[in-house]
Amino acid sequence: MASKQLGIPRPDLLRKLNGWNDDRVVELKPSGVVNVYKITKSLPKSAAKIDELAADLYRSMESREKEALHRTDEMLALITGKKCFALTLANHFGDSLPDNKKECGHCQYVFHLPFRALKRFVHSNSILQSVNY
Ligand SMILES: [Zn+2]
Repeated sequence: MASKQLGIPRPDLLRKLNGWNDDRVVELKPSGVVNVYKITKSLPKSAAKIDELAADLYRSMESREKEALHRTDEMLALITGKKCFALTLANHFGDSLPDNKKECGHCQYVFHLPFRALKRFVHSNSILQSVNY
């Protein structure tokens, strides 16, 4: 709608808005997303074929919803887990951290470690060695 009012092609407008979002000039929050479907074949003529098509669509949408819920569960497990985020992600992709480290030393997980581990992290980071605590 805005692209019509402004006379700017929608892809150009979206590209500019996404660029501003990436540059943190604005913060975009998707809302009111509506999936749009296009009929690409002629519809079946019999009730049985229409039921079959509806069942296929239902299974497809149900499968996508389950995948989305599974991804959400994995994200929750990552952010509430007891391991370094980078290590967890590396392990997920069958990889490990450089030198088989158990912590990256940078992720938010580090800031939830007990104080002694945090102190060890501060001492190992030369930039922070002058910090008094
Ligand atoms: Zn980490």
